[in-house]
Amino acid sequence: MPARAGVQIMPMLTHDILLVGGGGAGLRAAIAAAEVSAHLSIGVVSKVYPMRSHTVSAEGGTAAVMRDNDSLDLHARDTIFGADFLADQDAVEAFVQEAPREVIQLEHWGCPWSRDPDGRVSVRSFGGMSVNRTLYAADKTGFHMLHALFQTSLKYDAIVRYDEWYVSQLLVEDGKARGVVALNIYTGEVQAIAAKAVILCTGGAGRIFPFTTNAAIKTGDGMTLAYRAGVALKDMEFVQYHPTGLPGTGILITEASRGEGGHLKNKDGYRYLQDYGLGPATDQPVLRKMELGPRDILSRVHMQEYQKGRTFEGPYGHYVHLDLRHLGEELIDKRLPFVRELARNYVGIDPVYEPIPVRPVVHYMMGGVDTDMTGKTALEGLYAAGEVACVSLNGANRLGSNSLTECLVFGARAGRAAAEYALEQAAPSLNPLTLLASDEERRLNEHFLNKDGGQERIATIRTEMQKNHGAGCGDLPGRGRAAPDLQHPAAIARAFYPYCHRGPWPRLQHRAHRGPGAGFYAGRGRGRGALGAAAPGVARFTHAYGFPRP
Ligand SMILES: Cc1cc2nc3c(=O)[nH]c(=O)nc-3n(C[C@H](O)[C@H](O)[C@H](O)COP(=O)(O)OP(=O)(O)OC[C@H]3O[C@@H](n4cnc5c(N)ncnc54)[C@H](O)[C@@H]3O)c2cc1C
Repeated sequence: MPARAGVQIMPMLTHDILLVGGGGAGLRAAIAAAEVSAHLSIGVVSKVYPMRSHTVSAEGGTAAVMRDNDSLDLHARDTIFGADFLADQDAVEAFVQEAPREVIQLEHWGCPWSRDPDGRVSVRSFGGMSVNRTLYAADKTGFHMLHALFQTSLKYDAIVRYDEWYVSQLLVEDGKARGVVALNIYTGEVQAIAAKAVILCTGGAGRIFPFTTNAAIKTGDGMTLAYRAGVALKDMEFVQYHPTGLPGTGILITEASRGEGGHLKNKDGYRYLQDYGLGPATDQPVLRKMELGPRDILSRVHMQEYQKGRTFEGPYGHYVHLDLRHLGEELIDKRLPFVRELARNYVGIDPVYEPIPVRPVVHYMMGGVDTDMTGKTALEGLYAAGEVACVSLNGANRLGSNSLTECLVFGARAGRAAAEYALEQAAPSLNPLTLLASDEERRLNEHFLNKDGGQERIATIRTEMQKNHGAGCGDLPGRGRAAPDLQHPAAIARAFYPYCHRGPWPRLQHRAHRGPGAGFYAGRGRGRGALGAAAPGVARFTHAYGFPRP
């Protein structure tokens, strides 16, 4: 087979700040940076058109304290409880404080929140929240939020977009992040883009698992870019399962369907959650009870029902029923129209008349690139925000609807911090960056675009990796399933080394060093050490779906 023509580096582009990612966190960061100074030039690189970023698929809503019956304290407490006391409480404090301002700001930018008859923005219940505090726009919240952010970003001439460009490498010079190398997917050209500061907003990594709510673009690129540059990843053992995915596709049926009063039933038509300390089973939804328990607990309980033989068996494995029939057609059409659409299109049932088959599915990465509260990483000039980052807001389990708000709060913080940093920096020197970009060009040519020989296909390696994650770190880790390679991460490292790695393996950072601190709930269970004392019984859920502990 003739060799393909090699890629060629184009002359270098330059910006003051470069965003990698045009989803909720990336666009919020870009706007925040543009507001710091009109003199900053801001590039936004995205491997998909920004409105196709995965934020668009968020359905249920975004959390912030908006009502008199709520308080910042309560939002913080719910977040910390939900996180199994492994959240960093200073991050939680900043988050709950800045969340209301961010969602009101989004309203001013045109986000069409659903409203109550009295004109106030509506709030709905979500798992683990002790009051209704999730703002929503029907069940297409992510679409409307992203649209409002995208349109606002168009106002700023300083923001320049590189749509459908794929970043493959960070440029690091003299111990500082100084830009990226990206492949223009349309032309096939490789382009180096220099910048004084780089912000990673590349989203999650659900696609490393075989069964996930995440679309094909959520491949953990930003985590890889940072890791290869020597930046620690944190809390990677915490992977969230969502209890209600459609069997087969993994498409999410939003938690809002339970918030509106949907019931989970086993094959006997029984609301089994009451057998696991989540009862009593009431007709009306009760916050933090039954179907409104935290996601990790509901997912684990599903697996226990399966072990008892009380789930249905289908062509795509075991499942239970999510029953919305008692809510009625009018409510479903008004508040959950997308759920009806998804159920009709992907499982061929109408939830007005039939229950929806659901099962737990990989949904969200609590871990990611280790950052401080401004999004700063250990590598000077490199920032991260959104699902790619781990500012430690979510600990071992994120509460539903905290993530979109996290993109706003910490996206804005990272944008501001990077802008202030960039304003003090001299322009990066282009000569060494050109050499680094040439190295990356060679790597892309040798290993991917112009590779000769070799027996393995990338798709085969990916499938094997997904299977191993599913088996070794899946819903029932270590219980009678084969888990060969993840017991031995070195095997995976070896398999991927030629493709993706260029230096000594940096460390994965674990959290055990953290002790009780001076946070919001100082001394009440900050860090693992104090967990048992602070919340007896909470710890047992912590590792239900995580990697086997070393
Ligand atoms: C189905 C579903 C429903 C959800 N519902 C909710 C909800 O109701 N409430 C809630 O709070 N959270 C929800 N979440 C979680 C939440 O939507 C996400 O965590 C959040 O939107 C992530 O935003 P982000 O900006 O970090 O990343 P994304 O929106 O995923 O954006 C990532 C960006 O990075 C770019 N990118 C990635 N890699 C590269 C690369 N190599 N080169 C160039 N560009 C790159 C992509 O093109 C994209 O623009 C849901 C998640 C899913 C999957």
